[in-house]
Amino acid sequence: MTGYSLQRAWVDGTVLDDVLVEVAGGRFTRVTPDVAAADVPRATRLDGLTLPGLANAHSHAFHRALRGRTQRQRGTFWTWREQMYDVAGRLTPDSYRELAAATFREMVVAGYTSVGEFHYLHHQPDGTLHEEPNAMRDALRDAAETASIRLVLLDTAYLSSGFGAPPEGVQVRYSDGSGAAWAARAGAGPAAIHSVRAVPRDELHHLRGRHPLHVHLSEQVAENDGCLAAYGLTPAGLLHAEGLLGPRTTVVHATHLTDDDIELLGSTRTNVCLTPTTERDLADGIGPARRLADAGCRLSVGSDSHAVVDPFEELRGLEMHERLATRARGHFTAAELLDGSVQVVVAEDWAEGMGASLRAGLAALAGLGEDVPSVVVSLVDLPDLVPQVVARVVGGAVGGAGAAAGSLARAAYDGVLGVPTFDEVLTMLAEESARHGRSVGVLVELKDPAHSASLGLDLAEPLLDDLRRHRRDHSRSRVSVMSV
Ligand SMILES: [Zn+2]
Repeated sequence: MTGYSLQRAWVDGTVLDDVLVEVAGGRFTRVTPDVAAADVPRATRLDGLTLPGLANAHSHAFHRALRGRTQRQRGTFWTWREQMYDVAGRLTPDSYRELAAATFREMVVAGYTSVGEFHYLHHQPDGTLHEEPNAMRDALRDAAETASIRLVLLDTAYLSSGFGAPPEGVQVRYSDGSGAAWAARAGAGPAAIHSVRAVPRDELHHLRGRHPLHVHLSEQVAENDGCLAAYGLTPAGLLHAEGLLGPRTTVVHATHLTDDDIELLGSTRTNVCLTPTTERDLADGIGPARRLADAGCRLSVGSDSHAVVDPFEELRGLEMHERLATRARGHFTAAELLDGSVQVVVAEDWAEGMGASLRAGLAALAGLGEDVPSVVVSLVDLPDLVPQVVARVVGGAVGGAGAAAGSLARAAYDGVLGVPTFDEVLTMLAEESARHGRSVGVLVELKDPAHSASLGLDLAEPLLDDLRRHRRDHSRSRVSVMSV
């Protein structure tokens, strides 16, 4: 058995003692609390509190080169941006690979195990394609592999220096010229809109339907002003009008929002990524994290410009910034800050039938860009279906908490997988009655026969036919039928 014996661990939203984590085939296969270290001498003992690996939802790996340089003098986001452009202008695929590998390694050391890389440094310094058009993207992929961090590469569209104006200076390295050219180079996969500044409205449709989809949103008041002047809408209002908000979209920063923006982001179940250490370094302002969470947004954090690489400082920042803004304490619990395990997916085409929910859920899983080994589907109206039950079912499929792999059963009758007909059930009753030497009965529930009848499918007659054929159509038959 390969595994870890954890003195304390964060499991299902709480701290448990002496947790044994077993590993097989490169995956965690079982998590069992209250296993004394002495009982598992071959497991590696880890003292202190162990947390699951955390996701860094927003990163620009090359900004790491700015640390210690841009903090020296006065300025604003816009003067910082000039210094950032200076670094962006000088990187080659090779130096980018080296810089990104160091940045990703720093993330792994700090506790991040996944990173969403918001990648817009696509082209050569003169704006032309590299010989291999995605050489810079490949450099990031190599770097992530070197650092052993899971990478979600968000290929970012950046076409304009501001609301339709052509790219200026180093921005030519970011721009593909048009939304169509971006789509052709980027290909399929996770994507990003740099901002409503950098992708004109009539190009946004190239990003519609891409997921996961990330976008910088309302980080600066100037962006809001420009968007209102250009389109008469706030950035959130524009993205909504273009069908780009929703549970597969993550907006980054969401700092300067109107009440309507918050309502729009919450009601569409749009995810929000806050980057407190970068937002404070750049003097951006404080995003309304608690109000967004209350409105229905799922929150995540990212180290963004890497002025600080520390997931706990980002999470702490969510709470502390709220305290400074509201002069009140205690906005988020530790469990709220650490639990990113639930993602709400809305089946927009729910009226198509129950299969729509299944399709939406599975599509969202596919959008994670990960290898998902198995899926548990359950109904929502099952109050006794607690997390432990789900863990047992998953354990039965792949080996895990409380069940051995392969113990999961499928309904079968007479060697055939599937649900038996009523006729077959009655045959089984006769066999079981003979085997046990007494009459075995069955309780049958007829679901909404009036509805079936309205479709021209009268259930009563076939049911009675089956009962007659099996001589169970009498009061001592031990067959009861219930219905509404
Ligand atoms: Zn960013």
